[in-house]
Amino acid sequence: MRIKNIKKIIGLIIFFVIVCASNFIDYGNKVFEVKNPSEIFIDLNNNLVFDEKEPFVFDNIHYINKNTNLESYPILKQLTDNEKFFLEYMAIEKANNLLKNKYVKLKDNDIFIKNKSYTSELLKSKYVFDDTEKSQQELLDNIKSINLDDYVILNTKTKKYHKFNCESGRKSNKYKIVKLSEAKETASPCKSCHLTPIYQNEKPQIIQKVQKEI
Ligand SMILES: [Zn+2]
Repeated sequence: MRIKNIKKIIGLIIFFVIVCASNFIDYGNKVFEVKNPSEIFIDLNNNLVFDEKEPFVFDNIHYINKNTNLESYPILKQLTDNEKFFLEYMAIEKANNLLKNKYVKLKDNDIFIKNKSYTSELLKSKYVFDDTEKSQQELLDNIKSINLDDYVILNTKTKKYHKFNCESGRKSNKYKIVKLSEAKETASPCKSCHLTPIYQNEKPQIIQKVQKEI
């Protein structure tokens, strides 16, 4: 009986120590919402309630979107419409991957995920840029090295995939940008933007046939 009681007491002590210790571990603050790559809502007072207070704003991190005034960034004026569309999506996606639902720490006007700086990880992706010309040039070189024909807009609701310039692809608010090879496995091509080129390819064959008959 005595040994059993001692075991019980030891068990309770261990449990108590673990509970106490876990209260002292600083997990940081939870990220509630990544509004965009430079506006982040964080649970600053750790009450687990989304208070909608002022977001954490990075004035020195920029991403391409419809409000970006490219006159301020001459290097980026050569971006095409499709490249801008791709960059906006990828920047938001990268910021979400880094921060969404994560516990972070705030230090030196930056957000840290474990010991990684959010701003430097984001800039490393080359989908966003800061005020330096070097960073803008890196973003430009990065997007020019990507073959956008390898990517499509995948409407996750209708399971149709579209080219970047397709109006109906862009209009949907339930879409992802994915590799064409990935889209082909789970979705079907949009008739208005994807089937036209196949028809054009068939045309020369018909012309050849007619010529032979003549
Ligand atoms: Zn389409």
